[in-house]
Amino acid sequence: DRALVWFRRDLRDYDHAALSQALIDAQHVYCAFVFDTDILHHLNDKADRRVEFIWESVRELKEALRDRGGDLIVLHGSAQVEIPALAAKLGVQAVYANRDYEPAATKRDQIVADLLGRENVDFETFKDQVIFERDEILTAQGKPYGVFTPYKNAWLKRVSEADLGPHTIDEHVSSLAAPATVSPMPSLESLGFLRTNLLQLMPTGMSGADKLFENFQERMDHYHDARDYPAKKGPSYLSVHLRFGTLSIRAAASQAWYMGGRGAEVWLSELIWREFYFMLLHFHPQLAEGRAYRHEFDGLAYPGDEEHFVAWCEGRTGFPIVDAAMRQLNQTGYMHNRLRMIAASFLVKDLLVDWRRGEDYFARKLIDFDLAANNGGWQWSASTGCDGQPWFRIFNPVTQSEKFDPDGKFIRRYVPELAALHGAEIHTPWKVPPMRLMEAGIELGKTYPVPVVDHAVMREKTLALYKSASGSA
Ligand code: FAD
Repeated sequence: DRALVWFRRDLRDYDHAALSQALIDAQHVYCAFVFDTDILHHLNDKADRRVEFIWESVRELKEALRDRGGDLIVLHGSAQVEIPALAAKLGVQAVYANRDYEPAATKRDQIVADLLGRENVDFETFKDQVIFERDEILTAQGKPYGVFTPYKNAWLKRVSEADLGPHTIDEHVSSLAAPATVSPMPSLESLGFLRTNLLQLMPTGMSGADKLFENFQERMDHYHDARDYPAKKGPSYLSVHLRFGTLSIRAAASQAWYMGGRGAEVWLSELIWREFYFMLLHFHPQLAEGRAYRHEFDGLAYPGDEEHFVAWCEGRTGFPIVDAAMRQLNQTGYMHNRLRMIAASFLVKDLLVDWRRGEDYFARKLIDFDLAANNGGWQWSASTGCDGQPWFRIFNPVTQSEKFDPDGKFIRRYVPELAALHGAEIHTPWKVPPMRLMEAGIELGKTYPVPVVDHAVMREKTLALYKSASGSA
């Protein structure tokens, strides 16, 4: 009659599959979260916005559970050791958790399940972070989809009210139990991490998710029109909350579903992309090991050079839109979707740097980093992926800049050294007459870089490289 709910990327106390079921099954339900050293040890930067986001969200969750008569036991150590030990200490019959689909997490959970099993403790896992998981959406032949649109159509055809309804906890909430001794919240510093500028950038925890989602609901109708322009407040900025479960996917998807209209429809479609990439990773776990989805591109050797990669990381390529994008990432941990596509395409097809290096850089910097979505996005951009951009379609960074940041408003925010340029001059400072540059206080090569490559030349090289790889398949 005792159970333990292990929270991971589901940091909320409402609409929670594992918690809901545990409260139905057991009379005493304990809750725990582990700051997992097996993960934290891989983070080299001790000022990591994600750890701070999790810390803030865990703190809020702990308070919320205490208000409801329970508590959150917060541990610091290897989760695969801590959870079985805690289960033994509390004398629970079962541990409940929501499923995590990343290969490393699946492996960890198997180890935990085995260890618990030896002590006759059940390990029960639930679908929670998606509407449809793993093999729930398959083709008529029972195969996984390899193209997004038919997957999306099948998803939309299958979804019903029941899939979007919440896993309520209120009815049995009195079963929440607190441990006999007070369980303290470790400080961020004691975990070995530092404060960042996170709290100035975004609201954290369930309350933060609510605030952002409320605001987005007023804008959802215009999403399809506004989403592609980084200077506009177009998207929801909810990715980090979906990543750590401070917003329930059912709350998000049902809102779009019931609201209807073009904006909501397009937004729901983005949520389906998220599930499409989780599904792909489930069927192709080798994607997590650097393998291209399209095997013919697996061995493609990118000749790009290190200096160019560093210039890209630091936002000094000489292409203002790319530099603004990378500086947004470095300064805030977020990058607008249109810019992710532009920056990724530029690294791979203008600098000919291996997409895996970009994927790794994003993985270290993005606050919403998610293995499935990040890998999917990179392989899409590099044309090595499932349903990706065809390899012969190459973004022109200038055209993209003119189209999606027409007044250069976004560029001016992140590349202030170009702010004095007039109107459209900002997209191509290298074409601006020397007199105008002088007036604007710009010295190319000194105050702002000259372009590191010539787009037209690199375009031809990329086409030749991909052509030979695709031909040799
Ligand atoms: P909105 O436009 O409001 O979209 C709503 C939600 O839908 C997002 O929060 C996200 O959960 C989901 N979503 C939107 N677009 C995609 C997509 N293309 N693939 C999967 N899910 C999507 N998204 C991540 O969550 N984590 C990543 O690590 C990540 N890496 C990316 C890397 C590249 C190279 C590219 C091109 C895209 C990547 N994306 C990633 C997808 C997308 O850019 C972000 O989800 C989006 O910009 C987050 O902002 P938002 O919450 O305001 O999005």
